Parts: sequence; structure tokens; C-alpha cells
Amino acid sequence: MAGNGYNPYEEVVSVIEKAAAMLGLGENEYKMFEYPERELKVSIPVEMDDKSIKIFEGYRVQHSSCRGPCKGGIRYHPDVNLDEVKALATWMTFKCAVVNIPYGGAKGGIKVNPRELSKEELKRLTKNYTARILPLIGPDSDIPAPDVNTGEEIMGWIMDAYSMYKGQNVFSVVTGKPVEIGGSLGRREATGRGVTIITKEVLKRAGIPVKGARIAIQGIGNAGGVAAQQLENEGCKIVAISDTSASLYNDEGLDIEDILEYKKGNGVKRPLSEYNFRAGKRISDFELLTCDADVLIPAALENQVNERVARNLKAKVVVEAANGPTTLEADRILEEKGVMVVPDILANAGGVVVSYFEWVQNNQAITWEEEEVNHKLEKVMLKAFNDVLKKAGEKNTTLRMGAYMLALERLAKVNKLRG
Ligand code: NAD
Repeated sequence: MAGNGYNPYEEVVSVIEKAAAMLGLGENEYKMFEYPERELKVSIPVEMDDKSIKIFEGYRVQHSSCRGPCKGGIRYHPDVNLDEVKALATWMTFKCAVVNIPYGGAKGGIKVNPRELSKEELKRLTKNYTARILPLIGPDSDIPAPDVNTGEEIMGWIMDAYSMYKGQNVFSVVTGKPVEIGGSLGRREATGRGVTIITKEVLKRAGIPVKGARIAIQGIGNAGGVAAQQLENEGCKIVAISDTSASLYNDEGLDIEDILEYKKGNGVKRPLSEYNFRAGKRISDFELLTCDADVLIPAALENQVNERVARNLKAKVVVEAANGPTTLEADRILEEKGVMVVPDILANAGGVVVSYFEWVQNNQAITWEEEEVNHKLEKVMLKAFNDVLKKAGEKNTTLRMGAYMLALERLAKVNKLRG
């Protein structure tokens, strides 16, 4: 998030600069990727339940359509701001290039705390936001998806609003929808599944057995919750987990199934602070990030692994399930310490890969079995992991720089081919 001088957009631009320099690219070949193609700010009037009208601020940024339609999630959070949305859109362009799917990058967001709104208010907000960004989105131009505090239900509302304006069903305008209205099997779990695939691979490379590997996860939402469950199924010990209300630690491993069951509640997510756990203790967020674990998986927001966390980090591996969780300065410290960091644009790409599968299924009016989706996802993730590893090896650099170089090369090539 912005604050304390941290600006995620400036950070991503300086990583692009570094990657371009390492590749020896001329300015003409990469400068356009430091500027989003379009930035839209919208004001969204919403009739609240008490009949008053409240105006919300929203954004949609299209970073690049060079390799295909722009693609990226929509975030509902009180800290959403233009620089954050620009950074998130840029990461999407690079992420889609790393996993080599024919998409560019975009992102959207509304400055709102969705917990303060009733379900009907949230629905009106979503439908009015869709109307405001309608000139930009479309199945061949810009396809939204879920992000922080948005999920299947909200994607269904967006699809419905867009379809109403178009006068016909347009399922492929958005991904991450409920399965009953064109969602893909396996999409809900895809980001966490991708994180699990990558974590297992990186553990192998680091010479740490998957069974018994100690994992700490910040954030137990869609990305972090699924990764926790799947890594536990693989035999890992999830020693620490958190949400905005609390962080829990158990040296012997937490009971993830029980925690996730509790979190679900009766449709309304419950805070970890009120979870009545049998064994373990409460710790601070800083203690979670620096606890005695083999792998840290930040799965919440940007700017979490900062300089102080990096200096005190005990994990040997960081797998970035969140977008932009590590600051540039922290990244430099982790490199010095020899910590292996799998960058967001590779580690959390499972979501957009299965979003792409969903769009393909919608466009062809077919449905794939979940097994097929998961198998295809694994293939794409492993190929991308190996491509990044190879690029990083060739240039004797980090996985982050390897991933950025791989993506930038692909982007620059397409840009050149398009004249
Ligand atoms: P979510 O809303 O489902 O969950 C976010 C979780 O993080 C919640 O449990 C929340 O309580 C927790 N959280 C927020 N701030 C925190 C803090 N300071 N400390 C501890 N916990 C905190 O969101 P999500 O979809 O899981 O997204 C999480 C991250 O993963 C984001 O960076 C998002 O951009 C990224 N991501 C998500 C997807 C996806 O498909 N959902 C895909 C790629 C990347």
C-alpha cells in the first residue's frame, strides 16, 4: 500500500529498468512498458439502504494490450489508489508474459471497505462500477477477475451487468465466475494450487524435503487459504497463519482444515482473532513474517516484507503469493542473505492461467473436467518455472530478475513484430 514513501508503481518501473539494462535493450524497445496504455478514474454513486447516496472512487487501468486483451483482477479495499492499481496492472502484463498466455495486463479497484456495506449495497456498487468502466472492458479488450475482497459472486454480478448493457449474455467478459454461469472448474483454487506447485519445486531445488517442510503464510484468503490446505495435504507443516485480525503459531503445525472451516462461518467470514484453537499461540504480524520456517508465503498485500522483516527473516525461501509483497530494499537484503525468492509474477500466476482457461472454454462454449484444468495448469506452471530458472541461470541473477527478463524479452519481441 502507499504510505511511508512506498510507491509500488515506482518500484516496478525500476525493476523493468534493471531488467532492460541486463538484457541490453535500447529505450525504444522497452520504454512503452513503463507507461500504462489507459488509466480510468470513475466516481460511482450508490444508493445506500437508508436511501442516502454515497459516492465511491474507482479505477480501471490497462497497462498493455501488446500480447492480447488486457487481463486483471478487481480489488475492493479502503487503501486502493491509482499508483497501486497501475502497479498491479503492470505486474499482470509481466505475469501473463512469464507464463506465456496471450494476454496483456490490467487491474481495477474501488476504494471501499466491503465489510461496511450490506450485500445489496455491494451489489449496487458493483453494477454501477461495471457501468462506469463499460467503455473499457469486453471479452476481446479487457477481462476482469477476482482479487482482494472480491470473488465469484461479484464476478457474476459484473457479468450480468455487462450482459444487460449489451442485450445478450457475454460470459467471457469476466473470469472467476460461479461455475453455474460459465466459471471454470478449478478456478477458485487455481492461485493457491499454482503456489503449491511452485513451492514444491523450489523446495526440491533448495534440498528441503516437502514432507515436514515448515511453512508460514501471511493472509488466509483465496490465495493463502488454498495454498495452506494443499501444502498441508502434501505433508508440509503450516506453522503460522494470519488474517487482518490475528496471527496464529504452532510449532507442531496448525490444523488448517479446522481453521478454514471456522473462517468460512455461515457465509460471513469470521476473524481469526475469535478462533478458539486447541494448541499453539498468538503472535504478532512481524513474528509471523520472521518465524522459524523454511518457507514464508506472503499472501496478503503489497509492502509486507520490508527492510526490517528482510533483516530478521529466518525462512530460506519466500514464495510470493501476494502481488508486490517484497519492497526493493528488502529484495536486495534477501539476495545478499542468499534467500531464494520466487517472484509474484511467477508464483501467483496460477489464477490468471486458469482465468485464461475459463475464457477459452466460454469462447468455445465447452466445459473441461477439473482434472484436465489442473493438469494443464501444472504443465504451464512448471514450464514457466523452468524458463525462469534457466533465464536466471544464464544471467547469474535472481529468480525475480530472471522472470522480468523473460517477460520483457517476450514483450519487446511482440512489440517489434507488430511494428
Ligand atoms: P482475499 O481477499 O481472498 O484474502 C486476503 C487475505 O489477506 C485475507 O485473509 C485478509 O484478512 C488477509 N490480510 C490482509 N491484510 C493483511 C495483513 N496486513 N496481515 C495479515 N493478513 C492480511 O484476497 P486474495 O484473492 O487471496 O489475494 C491475496 C493476494 O494474492 C493479493 O496480493 C492478490 O493481489 C494476490 N493474488 C490473488 C489472486 C486470486 O486469484 N485471488 C491471483 C493472483 C494474486
